[in-house]
Amino acid sequence: MIINILAVTMAREVYKEFAGLTASGCLVIDRDDELTALTPCCAAFVTYCDTSLCCKSCYGEADNEHLLPAQVAVPAPLINTVIPGRPRRRKKNKKKGS
Ligand SMILES: [Zn+2]
Repeated sequence: MIINILAVTMAREVYKEFAGLTASGCLVIDRDDELTALTPCCAAFVTYCDTSLCCKSCYGEADNEHLLPAQVAVPAPLINTVIPGRPRRRKKNKKKGS
């Protein structure tokens, strides 16, 4: 038996809505119950540049699949998520009214 554990790096904003990966490995986010595949280059939404579809972050060409409801091939619970950057420090409320 082979167990594949995927580790996927994503921004904190994406992590909140992360639903899984498409068959082609794009991040899928669940926003208002709509599944959207983010671009493989920047994990960003797509937008139109003139008449062609492109990545909202780098303006590289994007596939039309990013306009359609995404198909989750690997659900989020099977994926180890990695968030770059330092964890947010929790403020300690020890000093009160000083
Ligand atoms: Zn991009």
